[in-house]
Amino acid sequence: MEPVLEVAGLNTLFATPEGDVRAVSDVAFAIARGETLGIVGESGSGKSQIFMSVMGLLARNGRASGSVRVTGTEILNAPVAELNRVRGARMSMIFQDPMTSLNPYLTVRRQMTEVLMTHKGLGEEAAAQASIEMLERVQIPEAGRRIGMYPHEFSGGMRQRVMIAMALLCGPELLIADEPTTALDVTVQAQILDLLMQLKRDTGMAIALITHDLGVIAGLADRVIVMYGGRIVEQAPVRDIFRRPQHPYTEGLLKSMPRLDEHGVTRLQTIGGQPPNLQNLPSGCAFRDRCAYAFDLCAAERPDLTSLGEGRARACHLPQLGEVA
Ligand code: SF4
Ligand code: MG
Repeated sequence: MEPVLEVAGLNTLFATPEGDVRAVSDVAFAIARGETLGIVGESGSGKSQIFMSVMGLLARNGRASGSVRVTGTEILNAPVAELNRVRGARMSMIFQDPMTSLNPYLTVRRQMTEVLMTHKGLGEEAAAQASIEMLERVQIPEAGRRIGMYPHEFSGGMRQRVMIAMALLCGPELLIADEPTTALDVTVQAQILDLLMQLKRDTGMAIALITHDLGVIAGLADRVIVMYGGRIVEQAPVRDIFRRPQHPYTEGLLKSMPRLDEHGVTRLQTIGGQPPNLQNLPSGCAFRDRCAYAFDLCAAERPDLTSLGEGRARACHLPQLGEVA
């Protein structure tokens, strides 16, 4: 079946007075209908900029090249009118800070009904009714009353639910969620992730879940893409990546996941060093300054993303790594 999203040869550059910053380099992947894809990496790894490119939401100094197909339609650098038809209706995006997509000066009712009146041609009453139903689906209590409130009158977790409701109004086939729970406390975080998964089951939509935290996608994603220095360094079904990571950076991410032991939560190890400077990437493998396995070839040659079979790929010069104890 045709994938809901197909990205090929994506490069995203930002022009700065100090020269171009290469945020995304030669990225290719697809998301199947109904699939949950996790995109993991440190901040600055390019994971958000892939999807800002997809959505046509790059900052003014940014430009993307390559191909982005949404259910078969090429939309990269498409005219705004065409993009608007796809955004909302076929895909929508939610963010860490709901205020990125909510207008603080308008009631939730006004914002939600406007979307439905514009995109679905509903009358105001029908739009309000559909909006209340959507707020109920994201489990906002007393939705009929609360729809008249302003975004700041909701708690952090409730505001996140409102944003999700907004994003789902037009029944997108793909929801892009960029660190949707990072700003929330652990309990609320779990509730929001549960909600997303329930909505996914109910609607059959695909989800791209962007996070710096491998733990967030452990039980949720079908497949995982690991980003480093603007490139995909590993790609695998989620089970495999936890059991047998094939890139030293992924291994580092796994070792730095908080774990529960008899002393409570401990963070085992953090990856030393800094993420690479995208303006001045090192020769060879971008991870080599931080990699415990680096050898001569790593400085001389950048490893290509190479298929390992069984839906796995990685970019590293090492022989395949063994099972993690
Ligand atoms: Fe480490 Fe070399 Fe593999 Fe890069 S290519 S991750 S430096 S072993
Ligand atoms: Mg980000």
